[in-house]
Amino acid sequence: MTELFSSIDREGHEQVVFCRDRSSGLRAIVAIHDTTLGPSLGGIRMREYASESEALTDVLRLSQAMSLKASLAGLEFGGGKAVILGTPSRADRRALFRAMGRFIDSLGGRYVPTEDMGTYTADIERLRETCRYGVGVAEARGGGGDPSPMTAWGVFCGMRAAMEAIGLDKGLTGKRVVVQGVGKVGMALVRLLIDAGAEVAVSDVEERRLEEARTLGARSIGNADIHREPCTILSPCAAGGLLNERTIPELRCRIVAGGANNQLATEDDGDRLHARGVLYAPDFAINAGGVINVADELGPGGYDRERAKALTERIEPTLRRIFAESSKSGSPPSRIALRLARERIESRARASE
Ligand code: NAD
Repeated sequence: MTELFSSIDREGHEQVVFCRDRSSGLRAIVAIHDTTLGPSLGGIRMREYASESEALTDVLRLSQAMSLKASLAGLEFGGGKAVILGTPSRADRRALFRAMGRFIDSLGGRYVPTEDMGTYTADIERLRETCRYGVGVAEARGGGGDPSPMTAWGVFCGMRAAMEAIGLDKGLTGKRVVVQGVGKVGMALVRLLIDAGAEVAVSDVEERRLEEARTLGARSIGNADIHREPCTILSPCAAGGLLNERTIPELRCRIVAGGANNQLATEDDGDRLHARGVLYAPDFAINAGGVINVADELGPGGYDRERAKALTERIEPTLRRIFAESSKSGSPPSRIALRLARERIESRARASE
């Protein structure tokens, strides 16, 4: 019990809820990190975790990243996230998400769910059968649909800022980009990169995804040593933690810019990247397109794609500012982004005291 509270205290989480529904088999954790700016917003991740503590660590880190992301993107939302432990068979999915919906509804709007790794628009619609909250529903139902293409668009815009910061031209033509994970975000990004003339290599743990990426014109490569692949941009778009003490010394890219959450295993890894001369586009700055897109569903007049796209495109100047401050101060971009995101939350907290 003491350990549980100390891990929650460490990053200042407000609330953590454990959910168990026997009939559907649901085992889930909802973490609300910070609601200073507004209700917490974030996806539901569904995956096989090696242990319950791995799931708890994941949801705590992810929800904290959502607070930073929403803050830096200028949204009036806080950070939250949910994880579902284990992947059910197709037949169980409706019962599972209806049960999840009942738990989330009981939080009275403090947590607004959407898609993440392993969950889809259809799951959010199943959840909405029992829950008043939930965004990322289909356009036919007044939503913005799957937010992943907007996430990919934001990453693509962010790549331009990163290339400019290291003195390259902003065009992708002929640039070598390596994408780890070609799921919803990664595949949409591969499409954009190939259309822009980049030379793209991809890895994934699922062969069918690789096959689809190959049909788009990407080359598939092994996943185990992907971080060692020589390229201009390494783009992590799978699970977190690709950048760590072991992989950073072996990188052969000039930029890391991807859609995955929590790409750094620890905050120190941002310093390591900086010391190695690899420009890191902080994940919560560059991958905000999805949360911007789903937040727009709750904006005045409902979802407006052009408004969401325009706000997503502000990722490029935001990153330009982060890189400029970094080169002026010598502080790593990861630290600058953290400071900017925290400052907005802290100043709102002070104003409402
Ligand atoms: P997804 O489940 O659609 O795709 C993930 C892909 O990564 C799958 O193809 C999977 O097979 C692959 N993968 C899983 N583990 C891997 C590993 N160890 N090595 C290589 N490939 C692996 O998920 P997604 O929605 O595309 O999300 C991808 C990442 O982007 C996640 O970190 C997610 O939190 C983050 N993200 C997603 C969105 C969004 O709009 N969906 C927004 C912001 C951030």
